[in-house]
Amino acid sequence: MNLVIQKYGGTSLGDVSRISHAAKRIAAADGSVVAVVSAMGSATDAMLDLARNLTATPHARELDLLLSTGEQASAAALALALNELGVPARSFGARDGGIITDGVHGCARIVSVDPVRIRECVATGHVPVVTGFQGIAADSGELTTLSRGGSDTTAVALAAALRAAACEIFTDVEGVFTADPRLVAEARKLDLLSYEDMAELAAGGASVLAHSSVEYASTHRVPIHVRSSTTETAGTWVTGLRPAAPLGSERFTAVGVAHRTAQLRCRLDGVDPIALTTIAAALADPALHVDMVSHLAPCSLRFVVNAACRDQVDGVLAGLRSAEAFSGCHWSGPMGKVSLVGRGFCTHHPQVRLLLDTLRAHGVTVRDMTVQARRISITCPEHDVLDAVTHLHRMFLDSTPARGM
Ligand code: ADP
Ligand code: ASP
Ligand code: MG
Repeated sequence: MNLVIQKYGGTSLGDVSRISHAAKRIAAADGSVVAVVSAMGSATDAMLDLARNLTATPHARELDLLLSTGEQASAAALALALNELGVPARSFGARDGGIITDGVHGCARIVSVDPVRIRECVATGHVPVVTGFQGIAADSGELTTLSRGGSDTTAVALAAALRAAACEIFTDVEGVFTADPRLVAEARKLDLLSYEDMAELAAGGASVLAHSSVEYASTHRVPIHVRSSTTETAGTWVTGLRPAAPLGSERFTAVGVAHRTAQLRCRLDGVDPIALTTIAAALADPALHVDMVSHLAPCSLRFVVNAACRDQVDGVLAGLRSAEAFSGCHWSGPMGKVSLVGRGFCTHHPQVRLLLDTLRAHGVTVRDMTVQARRISITCPEHDVLDAVTHLHRMFLDSTPARGM
C-alpha cells in the first residue's frame, strides 16, 4: 500500500484557514494518507498556564487529561474540514489509534502501536486523523501525554507500525536548517541529515523535531521528511543515510548550531564514589532531559537540565540523597545552552580552542563546556545566546558548502 503519514504541527493548524489548507493538502495527495495532528497554535501552552494558575502542583493524571484535549479538538476539526471537501475522514484518539505507552504522565514513552482500527479506516477509503502527543498506559489504561513536541513521535511510531513509505512532518519552516532560521538569517536549509546528526541537533534544542521522534525513527528506520505546510518546496530528509562530507573534512565537520534557554545547572557535592554509577544511571532516564554531565574531582558532579524538568529531577535526587549517594545539592540559573553539532570532535582538537576564542572575542561568557564526539555544548548567560549562536554559525558553518546535495 502506498501510504504516507502527514503530521501537522500546531502552527500549521492555528486557525480556520490553516486547517482548511491542511485538509486541501491531504485531499490532493496521491496515495493513502494517515494524518497526525498537534493542538492548534499555542493551545497546549494556554492549558499549562490555566493549570498553573489553578494550582502550583497539578495532579499529573488530570493535567494529562486537560492537555490531551488540545489534540482531540484539532483532530476533530481537521476531520470536519476533510469531510467538507468530500474526503471521508474520521478522527481517532490514542485509545482507538492503539498507541500504548508506559505509565509516566507528562513524558510517557510509546511502548507499542497496534493500529487495527486505523488500518480498517484506510482500507475503507477514509482518512484517519489521529491525535498526536498522547497514548494509553499499558498497565492502568489511563491516558498519558508524551514529552513536549511529542506529536512528531506519534507520527513516526504510526509510520513504523503501518510500514508507511515516509513520515512527513509539516511545520512553519522549510526544513531543518543549520541553526534556528528565526534567530540566524544566514542559516541554510539542509537537504539530507542522518538520524545521528538530527538527534544531536534535537538534543541541543532544535525543536523542529522532537528528540524522541528521531530516536524512534532511527530504531525503526522510518524516513522523515520535514517540510513547510505552506509551500510545495522539498524540505529536509532525515534518514539512515549520511550525507557525503566535503573532502578532507572527515575529522571535524560542523552540521549545525542549536540552542536552548531556561536551563538550570545542578551541582551535587559530597558524592560517594561508590554511588557514582547509581547516580549516573538515575540521571540517564531520557524523561529527565539531563545533559552536560561532568564529574568534577574529587566528589562533585555537575549537570544541566531544562527548568521545566526541575521538579522531576528533584524527585530523583531526593531518593539518591536519602540513600546517602551525595550530601549537598546546589541549583543555579536560568542560563542558555548553545551546542555545535557535527562529527569528529574531541577535547584537544584545535577547533575546540577556536570555538572558545570565537565566543570570547564576541563577549560571550562561557560557564560550562562539555565535548562529545558529535556535540560541543557550552552554557552562558541567556542574554548571550543570540551572539553565541550567530558567531559560532558564522565561524563554523557560513563558509562550508551545503551538505547532502
Ligand atoms: P510545530 O508546531 O510544527 O511542531 P515547532 O515550533 O515544534 O513547530 O518547530 C518548528 C520551529 O523549530 C521553527 O519555527 C523554528 O523556529 C524552530 N527551530 C529550531 N531550530 C531549528 C532548526 N535547526 N531548523 C529549523 N527550525 C528550527
Ligand atoms: N501540543 C503538544 C506540545 O505543544 C505536542 C506537539 O505540539 O507536538 O508540546
Ligand atoms: Mg513541534
